[in-house]
Amino acid sequence: MGKTLKVAGLTDVGRERDHNEDSFGVYPDFNLFIVADGMGGHRAGDVASRIAVESVEEFFKQTEKDDITWPFQFDPNSPFSVNRFLTAIQLGNSRIFQQSTSNEQYQGMGTTIVGFLAVENNTSMHVAHVGDSRCYRLRNGELEGVTLDHSLINDYLKAAPDLTEDQIAELPSNVITRALGMQDKVLVDIQTIENEVGDILLLCSDGLNGMLTDDEIKGVIESNRDDLNVAAKALIDAANANGGDDNITVVLVEVVEE
Ligand code: CA
Repeated sequence: MGKTLKVAGLTDVGRERDHNEDSFGVYPDFNLFIVADGMGGHRAGDVASRIAVESVEEFFKQTEKDDITWPFQFDPNSPFSVNRFLTAIQLGNSRIFQQSTSNEQYQGMGTTIVGFLAVENNTSMHVAHVGDSRCYRLRNGELEGVTLDHSLINDYLKAAPDLTEDQIAELPSNVITRALGMQDKVLVDIQTIENEVGDILLLCSDGLNGMLTDDEIKGVIESNRDDLNVAAKALIDAANANGGDDNITVVLVEVVEE
């Protein structure tokens, strides 16, 4: 039985920053949803996040009909949809890197990215990410993280799983170890998850999860789940009420019966 998706997306500058370096893309025709969180001086961050989102969209449009030459090698062991999604993100990486290395004002710019691509009549999704923008899933009253941040703190935890809470608290909490635009190639994590009717997927930049605990995020979505647009606005309002230190972007997608 096929499933269909309801979606809402919203971004907000927050209360401390003077401009918004996040970008997001909602493409129901492709069942494709993306959030990117840019970084870099002189407003280069919003350039980087926009290039990332636009590159993914453009590659999906090109590969819809045209028999184009792919910019990277196709992995014959992975499905077409996985190759298409990974290549689209890697294309964004190349373009950001190219801009940042050829244009002084964009030097060092980069962006995180998280997104999902629903496939097989929306019965499953490929979830891809680079950096610390996140995907969560709310199912049967439980909110779980689908992605694991590419961050220094997670690298430490992997290398030394028995660190105490005090030791963890001393580690820098906001250093990411992977981003688009840093090198000519990037390693993108991708996984495939099954969808159930009633699942709500959340994509967000760290301006959301840096301001709200997972329990708070869950509570806000659950009390507004009848209308995803209201829920998206409520998440942003809650992050702002807790300080709004950073730009806040949310994309919410609900899996419903076709
Ligand atoms: Ca951010």
